[in-house]
Amino acid sequence: MAGTATPMMQQYFDLKAEAGDCLLFFRMGDFFEMFFDDARTAAGVLDIALTTRGEYEGRPVPMCGVPVHSAEGYLARLIKGGCRVAIAEQVETPEQAKERARAEGHASKALVKRSIVRFVTAGTLTEEALLEPRRANMLAAVCDLRGSCGLAACDISTGAMVLEEFPPERLGAALARIGASEIVVPEDWSHDPADGVRRPPASFASDAGEARLKTVHGVATLDGFGQFSRAMLAAAGGLIAYLEHAGRGELPLLLPPVARPSAEFMAMDESTRASLEILANQQGTRSHSLIAAVDRCVTGAGARLLAEDLSAPLADRARIGKRLASVRYFHDDPLLRADLRRALRNMPDIGRALGRLVAGRGSPRDLGQVRDGLIQARQISEMMRAKPDRPALLEYLLPNLVGHAELTDLLTRALVPAPPTERQNGGFIAEGFDHALDELREVSGNARRAIAAMEARYREDTGTPALKIRHNGVLGYFIEVPAKHADKLMEADSGFTHRQTMANAVRFNSLTLHEEASRIAEAGGHALAAEEAHFEELTERVAQRSEAIAATAAALARLDVSAGQAERASEAEWCVPQIVEEPILAIEAGRHPVVEGALAAQAGKERFVANDCALSAEDRLWLVGGPNMGGKSTFLRQNALIILLAQAGGFVPARAARIGLVDQLFSRVGASDNLARGRSTFMVEMVETAAILSQAGPRSFVILDEVGRGTSTYDGLALAWAVAEAIHETNTSRCLFATHYHEMARLADTCEALSLHHVRAKEWKGDLVLLHEVTKGAADRSYGLAVAKLAGVPAPVVKRARSVLDKLEKGRAETGGLAAGLGDLPLFAAAMEVPADTRDAFRERLQSLDIDALAPREALDLLYDLKREA
Ligand code: ADP
Repeated sequence: MAGTATPMMQQYFDLKAEAGDCLLFFRMGDFFEMFFDDARTAAGVLDIALTTRGEYEGRPVPMCGVPVHSAEGYLARLIKGGCRVAIAEQVETPEQAKERARAEGHASKALVKRSIVRFVTAGTLTEEALLEPRRANMLAAVCDLRGSCGLAACDISTGAMVLEEFPPERLGAALARIGASEIVVPEDWSHDPADGVRRPPASFASDAGEARLKTVHGVATLDGFGQFSRAMLAAAGGLIAYLEHAGRGELPLLLPPVARPSAEFMAMDESTRASLEILANQQGTRSHSLIAAVDRCVTGAGARLLAEDLSAPLADRARIGKRLASVRYFHDDPLLRADLRRALRNMPDIGRALGRLVAGRGSPRDLGQVRDGLIQARQISEMMRAKPDRPALLEYLLPNLVGHAELTDLLTRALVPAPPTERQNGGFIAEGFDHALDELREVSGNARRAIAAMEARYREDTGTPALKIRHNGVLGYFIEVPAKHADKLMEADSGFTHRQTMANAVRFNSLTLHEEASRIAEAGGHALAAEEAHFEELTERVAQRSEAIAATAAALARLDVSAGQAERASEAEWCVPQIVEEPILAIEAGRHPVVEGALAAQAGKERFVANDCALSAEDRLWLVGGPNMGGKSTFLRQNALIILLAQAGGFVPARAARIGLVDQLFSRVGASDNLARGRSTFMVEMVETAAILSQAGPRSFVILDEVGRGTSTYDGLALAWAVAEAIHETNTSRCLFATHYHEMARLADTCEALSLHHVRAKEWKGDLVLLHEVTKGAADRSYGLAVAKLAGVPAPVVKRARSVLDKLEKGRAETGGLAAGLGDLPLFAAAMEVPADTRDAFRERLQSLDIDALAPREALDLLYDLKREA
């Protein structure tokens, strides 16, 4: 019953309809207010009071609100809580509203106009306060064009944009690599992610995308930027259209798109990333993740680039080599490295400052940051040029650090040394830049001095030393005396007019004070307007150079990563990996960077034991056995991480490393280590294992940790056995396979490129000692009881378990054990093979069948028949 809606409510409903599934922040004076379901959601997420205001259809309207001046913090929490917010501002003052209403002839109903000025969503943030300095904030759009996926991703805080295309089965891995905080999909999208923001399919048309890109960059053809497929352009169109929608027609900074062939990267799917804890640990925080152990960057931009490197290791030897050479350069020159890092430490985040300025949300401080950053960039370039023999990557980066002299000169002249974050109050344009502004400032300065002089004169004239001239927001300037001295000023001919009586003081005005105050106000108003105009002009000048400035920011970030990686390497004697083509993995004295760090942090505890790994075409699958807690998982992961670090272009925690380029990296952990995610954990384990078996190839590297553990012993062993065989025979990937099933050792008899290894342990005076050493050969026994004892299982229980075990082992000796007869099993590939002639005969018979014509009995007979023949 819309009839009961007041005009204000109707305005609210109209805006809410426009906001769609975003929460509507409805500006009411000094507050943003939310109503109905929005209020309930927001009050829940923000943990603020839910009240009511007025009635609608006979029921109170739920309401909550946040003050405008602290809205940013609340917005941040809503976005973190998964909400999207539409901001409806008052777009006219109450006075303007009254005037408009009068002109329109309905003076009594003056409702201030409001409209949505912006959508705030996780992927479209630029506010410094809402962004994490060391993490990129990605927005992605995906679409499907004739069976091929297009993806456009951009970090709108810096404007960087990439376009990709790949087959649909690679979508999961690509999205996992990009780690977008918001994903836009066409309305009719049927793949994952199911919770993407749905947008009209028309915005994903490739020709519209191409046209949008051309308009944004003011070019007639995109050829200068690279070659883009239709699917890439379609995704770009969807992305830009969404940005336009979110910014209500205003676009943020967008740099020219970069086409990225997905074969450029080592592929890793989402579960591999999660299990290797690359950017976050299993709990989702940064501590004890790979990046936390590696990151020595001194700037936010560097840390963001390092995260990108680790998320998207390269699969191209030449590019890896270039990054490595640059890290090595800084590794070998500690002094230069220290100088560079010192200079970078003071570097403002110019990429993000630029993003805010271009998006129209910049501040004078952002201009100052761009100025300071660009000046420092030039100094860094000079510092680097003073040293000889620079590697190719640096040679390529250095020219990007310079060339901004004209802009920095302008900004230096125009701005005060430390401009404020607010521009409303002015005070950021330097003296001497604009004479008219200087004069205005002088006028108000003189008036201020006049007022100070006036105070002294009034004290004398009235004989009241306690007289003061003060200023506040309500009265402006006024004269104040203690109540007991007020009488003299109250006299009719005193020249003072009474304004306000307080408890202990009385306030007055005077004509001269009023005149000076007006001069200050007028000059101040003009000065503010002048500063505002300069701000716009300077912002425009910066925006004109945005591509070059972004290139400088990118070069600085790469320098920071190179120097940071070198710093990390020098802390713990990491080595330069050698990347080769043959499918090998030769690691000498490899370590796990996170576990080693954790052990080092616990003073007095054991030291990390380094281990070798030597895979080759002839010995490509290692079965690793040994007791629980012996170090199997650690060994598996350290080798995967060493590959990842190497292909990201950094040094690795080992004495020496030769690594055959890896195209896909897979890591799977047996179910019980995994958190349940809705599906049964064993189901998850099998789905993930299936993905490896269908995708891993001869250049892939796979670690499988206790696969099969999520089910019964027999099932588990059988699956582990079959999976190991399949990887050995069919995928032929390099693989480390940890298992506690001794029986699997028998695989070594039939699989010639499989070998047995175990983590060493020994029992000493009845106690278990875990040596964490990986050595050749099968594990002799499982030490399960010893581990239980170590873990504090009460002695009588351990003793009882010992007698049960003795019984079981006796039984095993008599029957040949769990894996009795497995040695005679034909190999996996052989088992799959059906002689060609049988297969053809079968197929012919089946194909000639008219199933609909068969009576049930005939069908059954036929099945018996076929079975007999098989
Ligand atoms: P498993 O997979 O065999 O059960 P883990 O790899 O989980 O064993 O290791 C258990 C613990 O042993 C680790 O948390 C770590 O503290 C320690 N550890 C593992 N490997 C090493 C090593 N190479 N040197 C020192 N301590 C290690």
